[in-house]
Amino acid sequence: MIAPNKALGIVLECVRPLGIMRKPLHDALGYCLAENVLADRDMPPADCSTMDGYAVRSRDLARCPCTLRMIGEVAAGSAARPRVRPGTCVRILTGANIPPGADAIVMVEQTEEGDGLVTFQTKVPAGSNIRKRGEDAKRGDVLLGKGALLGPVQIGLCSAVGKAEPRVYRRPDVAVLCTGEELRPLGVRLRTHERRDSNGLALFVALRAYGCTNISLDFVPDDLEAIALKANQALTEYNVLVLTGGVSVGRYDLVPEAVTQARATVRFHRVAMKPGKPTLYATLPGNRHIFGLPGNPLSAMTSFYEFVLPALRRMSGMPEKECRPTMRLPLNRPLRTEGERVKFVPAQLVWRKKGPSVRPLRSHGSADITAGARAHGVVVVPAGNRELPAGSVVEFRTWRAQPW
Ligand code: AMP
Ligand code: MG
Repeated sequence: MIAPNKALGIVLECVRPLGIMRKPLHDALGYCLAENVLADRDMPPADCSTMDGYAVRSRDLARCPCTLRMIGEVAAGSAARPRVRPGTCVRILTGANIPPGADAIVMVEQTEEGDGLVTFQTKVPAGSNIRKRGEDAKRGDVLLGKGALLGPVQIGLCSAVGKAEPRVYRRPDVAVLCTGEELRPLGVRLRTHERRDSNGLALFVALRAYGCTNISLDFVPDDLEAIALKANQALTEYNVLVLTGGVSVGRYDLVPEAVTQARATVRFHRVAMKPGKPTLYATLPGNRHIFGLPGNPLSAMTSFYEFVLPALRRMSGMPEKECRPTMRLPLNRPLRTEGERVKFVPAQLVWRKKGPSVRPLRSHGSADITAGARAHGVVVVPAGNRELPAGSVVEFRTWRAQPW
């Protein structure tokens, strides 16, 4: 058995970013950049006003109060004119470029206007209320690096610099294949020895939420030929195959044999984690990957978030270090664990005034999807017998992951 961190290390060593494509900005949310995004001009491109007010020569206000003749107006979107000469001012609106001759903006609240004249009560230093050309970025500056994740604000920035179709990494195509003689589709009447699926749907929507667009979901009985056939089929069309069930050592656990028949190289099988012990990972040439997740729903989801999702992120171009984010948070109740495997305890994230903490949940083991459904993620507790008092800082990994 291999330690979970080692297992993740192997996965991240084996997966490589996929190909690159261009994405129109409105479709680029959650993708990772495959190129640097540069400022296409100085930002802002000219000195401009941060206020509604008047553009003045600060020297004209040296002796206040004073009155200046207003000779025009400049708003955002209009060219900056006329020139501000001694004794004059120009009405200006937020974001407008500073008209020539002016060196300061006086807020409208500190002035009075009437009959084409503006009275100023207090003097202002040169440069007041002006954003200088290039103060945020100079033309050619790298604003977003290769690998950066495109969230809403990053997409707004791409738009601001005219990057209409950034080059991004593709997202993997993923096939989900659930094994199990006992599984029956939704909508049919069950006999007591039959079960409804939960892994297939949970994984399918998790993949969709992550942003994968080409996902298949299929079911297969515990029949080696049938599993091998569907697995091989999937591996011709998809980058990643996620199997659930049948991966342990029982008589009808046929996934390891099917993986061998597919000529995949098994990188690990069995991980020192609870739940999730039977997890299997194998690779095929061409950046193709097989994950065998246990059938028990809590185990399947734990392994999915620990290994599969980080692999998908890496394949989508995310820097390795960001592929499995972890928070360190205090427990809000004591937690006892025992045994020689790393524990993944379903837990809720609790927001209180004094800050966030995690509440470990009771579960009846790896089949207890009701506990899984109450959880926002898992607390990770190192192997060994441990008595963690409330307040102990633990690792928490969210299951409510947005890709951005
Ligand atoms: P296995 O890993 O095949 O030994 O399955 C372990 C347990 O998980 C069994 O009780 C299965 O019925 C259950 N199980 C397997 N696949 C699924 C699934 N897709 N949805 C819900 N439970 C499952
Ligand atoms: Mg089974």
